[in-house]
Amino acid sequence: MTVLQEEVENILRPLDLSDDDYHTVMQSMLDQMERGLGAATNDTAPIKMYPTYVRAVPDGTESGEFLALDLGGTNFRVLLVTLKGQEVKMDSKIFLIPQHIMLGSGKHLFDHIAECIYRFVKEHNLMERKLPLGFTFSFPCRQKGLARAMLTTWTKGFKCEGVEGHDIVALLHEAITRRGDLNVECLAVINDTVGALMSCAHTDRKCAVGIILGTGSNACYIEKLEKVEMAEGNEPGPPEMLINTEWGAFGDDGSLDFITTDFDRQVDKHSINAGKQRYEKFISGMYMGEIVRLALEKLRKNGLLFGGEGSYHMATRGRFYTKYVSEVESDDTDSFPMTKQIFQELEIETVTDQDCRLVRHVCALVSRRAAFLSSAGVACILNKMKRPEVTVAVDGSLYRFHPHFHDLMMEKTRVLAPGIRYKFMLSEDGSGKGAALVAAVANRILAEQKA
Ligand code: BGC
Ligand code: MG
Repeated sequence: MTVLQEEVENILRPLDLSDDDYHTVMQSMLDQMERGLGAATNDTAPIKMYPTYVRAVPDGTESGEFLALDLGGTNFRVLLVTLKGQEVKMDSKIFLIPQHIMLGSGKHLFDHIAECIYRFVKEHNLMERKLPLGFTFSFPCRQKGLARAMLTTWTKGFKCEGVEGHDIVALLHEAITRRGDLNVECLAVINDTVGALMSCAHTDRKCAVGIILGTGSNACYIEKLEKVEMAEGNEPGPPEMLINTEWGAFGDDGSLDFITTDFDRQVDKHSINAGKQRYEKFISGMYMGEIVRLALEKLRKNGLLFGGEGSYHMATRGRFYTKYVSEVESDDTDSFPMTKQIFQELEIETVTDQDCRLVRHVCALVSRRAAFLSSAGVACILNKMKRPEVTVAVDGSLYRFHPHFHDLMMEKTRVLAPGIRYKFMLSEDGSGKGAALVAAVANRILAEQKA
């Protein structure tokens, strides 16, 4: 190895973890998950293992028309979902949530949401109907029932005042009442992981885990009811409940410090929720590009990349998007056209093929660590569930658009969960379909109670 290669290695080595590291991660995740489930230990457990009150996966008889909201991923959407047995029709519209609303008041946020529902309903000529609504709200919530969900803490890019500690459904209904021109009732709040699982289970009965690898990251799975000590009430139903793990908060007690690099520490420090969602910050789309940028900057400042030349863009936090990581890793390795294009946009003047190779190496290291850490999470759940065969529903922009994430996860999960047959299945539009399926079940129960 040349001296230069050695310098590069020294800077990047902390991003390269061993199977021992992944096993340690799994052990402490398992421990925290058990503590999250237990009533006596939940309070101090970083992984909260929230009961979802979703007891059954769909059986294919769900039917009707439902509105769905999807808030908390890359886009905010309003959807109209028509269920008829296995047939699902969906119509949706993306609405923007400007940053001043994401960081503004809760009242403003929910008024905006109600306004978007209004515009959607109007455009689809649904004003005359009373439509049940399922709300995919992709943030940690302590639920007290299907339609009662207190936000515990904002994550990702949101921080609206006056919502934490409050019931999301009540806030939505208040906004709807303030307008006075909408005939909509929210019957269920679900996490996006639950949506992914439900939507996949609709066609695959072996689906028992749902994960999101997108802007943020999280997992849910089917747990035996007797283990769900935190759930309130005892409604009749199957002896199971979906658990929203909120694994993103894994490590918030310092248990991932042993794999945390300087890059990760900086990402965390400059985020709007420093000290929180530590596991999520290793593995999700909101942060991966920034980890890469910090590593590239470090190499560059040491004269190991771009001949030491920086740019305003490369010095700007958040400017190296996670989608670039996917593009670099998809690029042609002979001439690197996309990589060169990216750095042209970022105003680095001279980019050699050797620079491109190093950039690609950094991207691959950061993605591989993310994919393997996600596998450690999945394997931890699979080992804990002890089912011989499980389909894992996956959704999220990172998983969808990264060229190798799926393969990397397949490879590492095999090592970390030996003896279990699993498959990762892309969940198509779980946030819409899943919300409608849960709302459909809630609607049926309501109708039965009235009869
Ligand atoms: C949230 C989860 C969500 C995940 C993926 C995390 O930041 O806490 O509730 O499932 O992002 O969207
Ligand atoms: Mg989403």
